[in-house]
Amino acid sequence: AKELGEYNVVIYEQKLRDEYLQEVNIENLLRRAIERGEIYLNYQPQVHLKSGKIVGAEALIRWNSKEIGMVYPNKFIPIAENTDMIIPIGKWVLEEACKNLSLWREKYNKDITIAVNISPVQFKKSDMYKTIKETLQKYALPGHCLEIEITEGVLIDNIYDIQKQLKSIRDLGVKIAMDDFGTGYSSLSYLRRFNFDKVKIDREFVQDYPEKEDGTLAEIIINLSHSLKLKVIAEGVETEEQLQFMSQNSCDEVQGYFYSPPVSKEEFEKMIEKGIFI
Ligand code: C2E
Ligand code: CA
Ligand code: CA
Ligand code: CA
Repeated sequence: AKELGEYNVVIYEQKLRDEYLQEVNIENLLRRAIERGEIYLNYQPQVHLKSGKIVGAEALIRWNSKEIGMVYPNKFIPIAENTDMIIPIGKWVLEEACKNLSLWREKYNKDITIAVNISPVQFKKSDMYKTIKETLQKYALPGHCLEIEITEGVLIDNIYDIQKQLKSIRDLGVKIAMDDFGTGYSSLSYLRRFNFDKVKIDREFVQDYPEKEDGTLAEIIINLSHSLKLKVIAEGVETEEQLQFMSQNSCDEVQGYFYSPPVSKEEFEKMIEKGIFI
């Protein structure tokens, strides 16, 4: 038994070492990813439930590394956050989203909106107000066509400073959505304290309906948001049944594989062209 224990310790140390090496490797590859053109955005349509029309999309980052292939954001965003690389990466995401948004708005003359995920680290370690303001100016975009998605992680410390930043950003007309709602700890008090425009129901509360989840929590989140005069969008809507549920409970918008997975900018542009837009 003792030998087995030591053996396990060795295995465990090896595993830690491998993970560390992998992380260091990913970190180095990620450092050059932008300049090597390995990073791009996909767009996932957001659909207005009552009209069935697309109102916009969430921009989702993708990394196709020449050395290690596709790496998904759940894997590299935490590494980017730990190394502050999220600052240049996040800037690139915002810029790329605004550049395309501006092209599409002009070309198709539609009031399209794009939602961009902003990491708490970007708020804590860079001037997001300045970055957003300058990027909107650069592409001559009205603030209201940009939405930023933040998680409650951003609200945990330095509340006063974050509150100020969010207020200035909102004064630009930019919409603010609380992402992954219901998965954290203090979402409720934050909703009251900060001025959000929209709540995003995490797909955890959506995708298991009706098999493992009866929808109670989603329903509560919708009613709560509406009573606070906030819009609600459900993510991870995959089935007709889930769509029906959201519709019956007056959810405003949905996003998920039922309508479309995240698609390339070319494919998203085709959707705009087809006129299934509001
Ligand atoms: P998120 O913000 O909660 O984004 C939703 C995730 O759910 C996306 O995963 C999307 O592809 C996936 N999804 C959408 N519809 C469905 C569905 O019907 N079923 C299922 N099973 N999944 C669905 P993705 O693209 O892998 O992104 C994962 C997370 O990475 C995002 O979660 C977000 O937290 C982060 N992320 C993505 N892009 C960025 C970015 O540009 N900046 C930052 N800071 N984080 C990002
Ligand atoms: Ca999001
Ligand atoms: Ca989520
Ligand atoms: Ca998330």
